[in-house]
Parts: sequence; structure tokens; C-alpha cells
Amino acid sequence: MPSVTFMGTGGPRRDPHRRATSLLLRSGQEEVLIDSGRGALLGLGEARANIAGLRRILLTHHHFDHIGDLYDVILNSWLEGRRHPLLIEGPPGTKGIVDALLNHVYDRDLTWRSLGEPAHGGWAPVEVREICAGEATSGAGWRATAHEMSHGHGLPTLTPAFLSRWFCHGYRFEVAGRVFAFTGDTVDCPGLRKLAAGADVLAICCYAASSELTSEHFRVLARHTLACGDTVGKIATACGVKQLVLTHHKPRPDDAWQAALLEEVARDFSGPLSLATDGFEVAF
Ligand SMILES: [Zn+2]
Repeated sequence: MPSVTFMGTGGPRRDPHRRATSLLLRSGQEEVLIDSGRGALLGLGEARANIAGLRRILLTHHHFDHIGDLYDVILNSWLEGRRHPLLIEGPPGTKGIVDALLNHVYDRDLTWRSLGEPAHGGWAPVEVREICAGEATSGAGWRATAHEMSHGHGLPTLTPAFLSRWFCHGYRFEVAGRVFAFTGDTVDCPGLRKLAAGADVLAICCYAASSELTSEHFRVLARHTLACGDTVGKIATACGVKQLVLTHHKPRPDDAWQAALLEEVARDFSGPLSLATDGFEVAF
């Protein structure tokens, strides 16, 4: 049965209880890494993934809590024995980021290890394919379609010049006739409705409960940047989602928020509902 492990369920800010976003989809024939935020490599280890066998990474967008440890996965999959190409797919801009990591930031490290530790067999290649919303990709036993999300696009202070190079995807996976949809980061938008329609499992960012939106900063965030407890259940119900998983949680000092968030979302969504923690696994 296909499954997804939520290896990181936090956001960009330091959270002692959560890594940043990364998920591992298991199709039954292949393991696919979705995003590679802080702690992704450690998450792969805990999930007992075959790191040397990793062939594919899908990136939702280029915030650092989704790509910060991409270098760690690229380099350690090689050190652990990867000899085949690792294909990284993501929105436009992904090529420049991977190029900067391999040919600038870690250029000396890669050359040092290739020449100084030849037992590794020389550098194993990394390939990049940029995909646009509406495009699909596939692998062993899975297919995924990218959908356009709205993640800050409505903020009045983001300029048109910046927004022309800011792309955020959600991915709708089809595996053995079942659908797992992952929003990445977004608020409600037409792309999210298409992504989620009839999904067996929808994993949606849900930064906070309404009762936690206590400042203008958080109210703007809930309107334009990350969905919160007031909308995620309504979206899931309107889209006919069968099971809902909430992730990308705000850091909090204790767990008192959990009951408030679950109660708020359950008012709008009557199906199975989970608050993902690091290591949480859902079969679909
Ligand atoms: Zn983001």
C-alpha cells in the first residue's frame, strides 16, 4: 500500500520539536522525496529510506524551510553509494539554485571528495528539470501533476518583478488508483481546489488556529501566505477530500493549541483528521 511519511512538519522558525518541510512518498516501487527542508536527511534516516537509492526529489517552492537541506541529501546520497543520476524537479528557478550549490557553494567540497577520496567512484550526477503548473511528471508506480498555489502572491508589498519569478507548486500524486495531494505552502486559491478535488488524502499547510491569529502580522499571513484553521476544513469538505492531514505548524511552547485547532477544523470537516508530527505516516 502506498504511503507518505511526514519527516518535517514545522516551518522556517526554530522549533525544537519539528524539522522543516520534507515528506517521503513510497509508491511501492520507488521512494520520492518531496521538499528538503531543515533535517531532511535525518528524517530520511529515521524513516529507514534507501538514501543511496534515491532517484527523485520534487520541490514545491524555494523558501529555505523547503530546500535548506537539499545540499545534504544530494551529497550524502552520493557518499552513501548513489551512482545513478538524482533528478530534482521543481518550479522555474530550481536550476539556478542547484547550479549554485554544486558549482559555487560546494564546488571545492565536491572536487576534494572526488579527487581526495576516489573510492567514492567520482561524482554522481544531479539533473534538474523545471516544471510549470499544469505539467506532470512520473516515476516507478507514481505520477504527479503540479498545480499553482498562492503563497504570498496577494501581498501588496511583493513587486510584479519579484512575482514574475516566484512559483509555488502543490503536487497531486496518483499511485495505484489512489490520490495523495500535498499543497506545499498556500492559501485558498483555484489551483488548490483542483489539487485537492476528491483526494484520498490531502496534506495541507495549516499554520495556526484562528484563536492564535492575535496580531496583524498573523492575520495577513492567514490571508495571503499560509492557510490556517479557519479555512482548511472548509476547503477539504468543498473538494470532497476523504482524509485530511495538517502540517507546517507554527512553533509553540506547549501542546495546548492542538485541541483548539482540531476542534476548529472538525467543525468544517467530518472525515478523518490528523495533526502531523515528525515521523507521522499515512497510508493511502
Ligand atoms: Zn513557503
